[in-house]
This record gives sequence, structure tokens and C-alpha cells, in this order.
Amino acid sequence: MFKKILVANRGEIALRVLRACREIGVRSVMVHSEADRDAIYVKLAHESVCIGPAASAKSYLNIPAIIAAAEVTGAEAIHPGYGFLSENADFAERVEQSGFVFIGPRAETIRLMGDKVSAKREMMAAGVPCVPGSDGALPEDYDEIIRIARDVGYPLIIKASGGGGGRGMRVVEREEDLITAVETTRTEASAAFGNPMVYMERFLQKPRHIEIQVLADNFGNAVYLGERDCSMQRRHQKIIEEAPAPGISARQRKQIGEACVAACKRIGYRGAGTFEFLYENGEFFFIEMNTRVQVEHPVTELISGVDIVLEQMRIAAGMPLSIEQKDIHLRGHAIECRINAEDPFNFMPSPGLITNYHCPGGPGIRLDTHLYQGYRIPPYYDSLVAKLCAHGDCRRQATDRMRVALREFLIEGIKTNIPLHRELFTDHNFLQGGVSIHYLEEWLNKRKESNES
Ligand code: ADP
Repeated sequence: MFKKILVANRGEIALRVLRACREIGVRSVMVHSEADRDAIYVKLAHESVCIGPAASAKSYLNIPAIIAAAEVTGAEAIHPGYGFLSENADFAERVEQSGFVFIGPRAETIRLMGDKVSAKREMMAAGVPCVPGSDGALPEDYDEIIRIARDVGYPLIIKASGGGGGRGMRVVEREEDLITAVETTRTEASAAFGNPMVYMERFLQKPRHIEIQVLADNFGNAVYLGERDCSMQRRHQKIIEEAPAPGISARQRKQIGEACVAACKRIGYRGAGTFEFLYENGEFFFIEMNTRVQVEHPVTELISGVDIVLEQMRIAAGMPLSIEQKDIHLRGHAIECRINAEDPFNFMPSPGLITNYHCPGGPGIRLDTHLYQGYRIPPYYDSLVAKLCAHGDCRRQATDRMRVALREFLIEGIKTNIPLHRELFTDHNFLQGGVSIHYLEEWLNKRKESNES
């Protein structure tokens, strides 16, 4: 195992990685911006290095500064967390070229999966079910595009191969709108992602978002840790995630899990990763792969007992996976609420000083957060400030525990979405389980209308 790991991230995930380091006696180096000097994980780290001013572009995205910090502190490996540089193939490459280990897949794998057309091609070849659509990128010829669209059927969606973060997509209902939509998406895609390539998929009307967590080592071993349902989203941002996904049978889990493992082996995947699917009428359709640890990894840890961050570190250190598929037994149900520093009605960010703080606890409760009383949440970064998880023997027990925990959770001085979560955990349809990716936005619209009338 490494003696020293540098954490190139901030917030709760920085603390999460630091805790994993401490657990196994690895020294930690925390890089931080000027705005994060007082963060708890900076104080808890063995060493810390300020890498630049508050703006992410000058600190958390500043590749030379991060590599220099690894050099001066003698760190051996870099954990990128999620967001920031975690899926930046150039960063992974520079880290390795500078003689450090990137805790994640090889740069070429990140590149392959970051391009959606090539990712989809690999997945199809590995037997992973994909959304029916164009065979690769769309051609230039308009007649040809119209012909492909007739095969795919309407409504359909035009997507940028280099797209991400819910951008670079356009739904087309009718043939007369097709060519304009393709051209507009192409123009946007070359401006935003430097890649004009677009492709076409059937537009699924009421899907759920279900994803498969995998781990793969350098020795050709790969396992799946079951699925998560992340359908509760607002503007493509997940706010509640759970594992397992309601209504997925053991047979379905095995089938899709094995397909993902086959895909890992085909692309020589290394590390932790997630295959994201849309799920409709009992069928899975691959949409993309995330080549990093995800925000919602704790729900999988709670039901599988596997520490995903520790496994990432072990894999990067050249150790084999500590588990085989036959050792993985999922137990109970876990659910996560993302606690954001934002207004629970209009979703405006609400950074600032935490004047009073009380965190929940008790059986089955896990809280991942860097917050404390007297901490000032800086205004420069993502509004996610805590992840509250509840684990129980069954979904009912997990949601009951979550309801209790949400009542106890007190964060004063700023606004948070805790009141929104409290309301959602009394909603009949959500509590029944299995709602589609549109449910939360429809629910929010109804709430808005009833508040206005
Ligand atoms: P990004 O990388 O930008 O997140 P994704 O391919 O993961 O792009 O798609 C983001 C979201 O767009 C999905 O979660 C889903 O809500 C919607 N979406 C993408 N493809 C389809 C499709 N074929 N049918 C319906 N919705 C889709």
C-alpha cells in the first residue's frame, strides 16, 4: 500500500478519502484553495498545501499546482474524488507521466468512455444493452439522417458524443424539426465540447435511472456490487439515491451485473466505476459510464459491506480485489439524501456561516459531511454539503429511519434542502418506490402551483 496519498478534491469527499487513508495508516496530503483553508479535512490531514485562489480554475483544476504539491510532499498517489479533475484523461496522463499513481482507470479508458459514441460501441460489443439508435455518429447527409430517424422512430433524442452534465441534448418529436435540431446540437457541441459529433437515440418517455457499481483490478478480476436507483432528480441532478432499486429481481441484477463485468474485462477497466442505465418496461438501456467514485457510493457500501474507496486505493496500489463475486451478499436497503446548501423552494444557493448544528445518529444512520458549527460554507463551489444515509433490513425500515434522522438534523445560519427531503419522505408515491426520472420535477411543479393558489 502507498505510504502517502494526495487528495485532489474538497468537501465531504475529501474527508471521505482522508478517513480511508487514516483507517489503514496511509499519510494524507490535502490540497486546498485559499477559500478552504479552515476546512476540517485540511486540519485533519497530515499535510496540506494551498494550491491557489478560490476560483476552481486556479486551484482544484490547476493541474501543474496539484502535481507540484505531490512532488514537494512526496506523495505517491493522487485520489481525484468526483467532479473537478476526476474524469479528465489529460490529468490522469500527466499524473502518471510525473511518476505518481492516478487512483482511477488508465487515461485511455477515461478517454474511451468519455466519448459517448465510442463508449456505446464498446458496450454493444460486450453485450451490454443500449438505447436503440443510430449506429455511431450521424452522417452529414440530410437524407441519410432522415432515413436513420425513421428507423429509430419518434420521439428521438440527438446527443453530443462529447456531452456531459446534462448538456448537449435535444429531443425531436417530428420529422420537420429533425435537421434543425441536428445542426443546432452540432454547433453547440463543437462550441461547448470541441467535438461536433452527434448521435441519435430513441427517446424513452418515463424511464427510471438505475446504475451498476463495479470494481475491477489489474489482474482481470471484476465484480458488480448491485445497483442503485437514482431516479429522484431535478435538472439532471440526483437528490435521493437508494440501493437496491425497488422491484429489480435477483435474476435481472445478475444478468445486467454480469454484462457490466464483461464490459470491464473487454475495455481492461481498472478501479471503481459505474454503468448508468435508463430502465423502462423491465429493460435496461446503457447511457454512459462514470469512471470514478460517485457521490452516491455510500448506499452500495451500506448494503454490500464493501468499502469502495479502500478498494480503489488497493487496486491502484497493484493489489488484487479483496472480494470475489461469490463473497458479495447484499443486505437490507439503504437510502441517501443529498443535503444541499440551497433554498428548499427556489433552489438558490445559500452559502454562509453555520451558527447552530446538530447531526442525527442512531441505528443504521451514516452521515458524510465536513460541516461543523462555526464553519463558513464558501460561495464558490457545489452546494452539496452533506450526505445523510439510512440503512435498514428493508426499504420501509430505511425510509422510517431516514424520516427520524431528517427531523433531528439541524443546520442553522444558512438554508438547506432538509425541509424538502422531510416533505418527500411523506410522499405516498415516492414511498411506494420505483418512480420515474420525471417524478420529482412534476412533484415540485404541483407544489409550486398549490403554493401559488
Ligand atoms: P450526461 O453525460 O450529460 O449526463 P446522459 O447520457 O447521462 O448525459 O443523459 C443525461 C440525462 O438525459 C439522462 O439521465 C436522461 O434523463 C436523459 N436522457 C439521455 N438519453 C435519453 C434517452 N435516450 N431517452 C430519454 N432520456 C434520455
